[in-house]
Parts: sequence; structure tokens; C-alpha cells
Amino acid sequence: MKITDIETIILRLPEVVANGDNLQDVLIIKVHTDEGITGIGEAHTAPTVLKAIIDAPVSHLTTQGLKPLLVGRDPRRINELWTRMYRHTTSYGRRGVVLQAISGIDIALWDILGKVTGRPVHQLFGGALRDSVPVYASDLSPAEPAAMVELAERHVEAGFRGLKFGWGGLGGDVRHDAKWVGAVREAVGAEIDLMLDMGTPVPFDSAVWLAHALAEQDVYFLEEPLAPDDLDGFAQLVAVSPTPITTGEKETSRFGFRDLIERGGLRIIQPDIARCGGLTEVRRIAALAELRNVRVIPHCWSTDILVSATLQFLATQTDAPYQEFNVMDNPLKTELLVEPIQQQNGAVRVPDGPGLGIELNEEIVERYRWRLDG
Ligand SMILES: [Mg+2]
Repeated sequence: MKITDIETIILRLPEVVANGDNLQDVLIIKVHTDEGITGIGEAHTAPTVLKAIIDAPVSHLTTQGLKPLLVGRDPRRINELWTRMYRHTTSYGRRGVVLQAISGIDIALWDILGKVTGRPVHQLFGGALRDSVPVYASDLSPAEPAAMVELAERHVEAGFRGLKFGWGGLGGDVRHDAKWVGAVREAVGAEIDLMLDMGTPVPFDSAVWLAHALAEQDVYFLEEPLAPDDLDGFAQLVAVSPTPITTGEKETSRFGFRDLIERGGLRIIQPDIARCGGLTEVRRIAALAELRNVRVIPHCWSTDILVSATLQFLATQTDAPYQEFNVMDNPLKTELLVEPIQQQNGAVRVPDGPGLGIELNEEIVERYRWRLDG
């Protein structure tokens, strides 16, 4: 069996704006083979930049595009191909966008292996420990506290037991942010897990103040209050914060997560499987985390391709408290699959068809397809 082509497809909403929603455009990857089996993956970052990394021709031994490295090779040899992509990009890769591109291809390779063997990815990982995963509703923060309360009530009504608001109206004044969370807590009661995602950093002293204020509302975690590279800041904040602190959605590779854990002191990390290095790398990251009693709550704000990949992974983990679940009304989330993935009573069933267990709705793919040449 051989890889014949790696196809990159950019999907883009008619209007894209610079807010906290990074599901306005996506890059879908199809790995084609000579046996008619196609693996589906996605990489989550700037789609046109990713496309260039996949398509680039040879420039140097350790500066190569990913597609020429893989065409003609056996897609079932995932460890070998992952290492090949990593080693032949070390002059310009190792972290960041190259790892994000590797992620998308890696997800597609696991989908192929599943389809070849007739097994879901979680079985290839040794079998599931659960057939559904708890999810928390993840929403952008509105500009007004009353609107946040209304959204929170709607999500609880829909069955969610955990809620997160992020970006949007947050981060301007942490005293306002704390008051908003207080209003939501009062509306939804003590049993619901509340989470707050700053998205962009606040001053260190404000983060310390907020972490203490949120503890009074029994907040489940405070996400990204500091800059992603401020590892020493995170270490200091984690040491004094009564609220659990999280980060990691912008981090890549086991080396990056080792630093977050060992230098940053994080007790919860949030790898994104369409960014961190794919299903192959997230399992290495999770093994590292488990050894240090660090919890893994993956970032998952993209299409149902990533949702399925994340479910396949979490199904096999001893500790799987939550998966993020984007509740925005966005066709790239709600319509991309023939059978969209839906939550019920705050949990999502793990797809059990071969590979990722998903099928793209090609009509939707064509409707939102964005061509570089216009
Ligand atoms: Mg976030």
C-alpha cells in the first residue's frame, strides 16, 4: 500500500474577522492511497501557511515539504512517517506550524490504518476504557454580563454540566470578569463546573487577583491568563493560585509540553491534537503528564474531524475528565459530517466505525471550499 497524494482543502466562512473564534477557516487534509482508501485529517492554524509547508519542494536535507517526503511510502508505517516528517523539517520546524501540519497528516494516517484494518482508532490504541466522554460547553464570551448568564442557562438546559466562556468581552478589567462569573454562578447553581478562558494575557498581578477571586466561585480552571511563553510566570502563578491554572492550546510537541509541566508547573495541560503533533504525539504527551500527575483536558475548538480524533484519544485514557465542545452556531462545526457529532446529557459517544469513524459531507466541503487562485 502506498500514498499517492496529500490533498489540502481550505474551508472558509464567507466573512472572517479577527476575533477569538479560530473556526472561521480550516485546513482539511486527505491522504490518498493506491488502494482507494483515503484518510481524513485536519490541522488547525493559518491554513494557507500550512498548505505551503505540506506542498513545499526539497530545499535542503532538513528543510523539506511534507508531501514529497511521504508520497510513495506505506501509510501504515505511522511511527516511521512521523519521524521522517519531524527529522526532515528540523531546520525550520520542531515546534509551531510545522508540528501543526504534521498533526493533520498524522490524524489522516491513523484514519487510514483504521480503515485498512476495519477498526476504530481507539481499538488500535489498545481499546476504549469508556464509550462516551464528558464534554463542557465552550463559548465565546459576549460583551454583556446579562448575555453571558442567558447563554449559560441555555447550555445547562441543553444538558451540559460544565461551561466555559472565553475571549470576547473578557480581559479588559479582571474585576468585571470576576463579577460576570459570580452572576453566572448564581444563575446556574453550585453543581455546574465553570471555566474561564482569558485567551490573551493579563498583567501578572491581575492574574493573581483573578485566580483568588474565581476561587470564591469554585471555578474549575482559569485558562491562559498569561502569555504562552511566560513559563516562569506560570510557575509563580500556579504556586499561589487557589484556582487551577491551564494552558497549552498554542503549544506543540512533547518537548514543549515537558517545559510547560516542568518549568511552568502546570497541573492541567490542554494539547490540541490538530496542533501538538497529532494522535501519535498527544499519546507521548499524555504519558509524560500521567507520570507527573498532570491532567490532560484537550483543546478542541474546530471541526468534527478534530472532535472525533480527540474522542478516540480520550476514550483510551485512564483520566478523561472533560473534552471541550464548541457550541457556536457554525456550519464548519455543525454540518461538515454526514452524521454530525452531538452531545447528549453533557457527554459525547465515541465514534466506533473504522478509523475516525466519520464521513465528510462533500456538499458542505464544496460549499465552503476556498481556492487560492480564486
Ligand atoms: Mg483557549
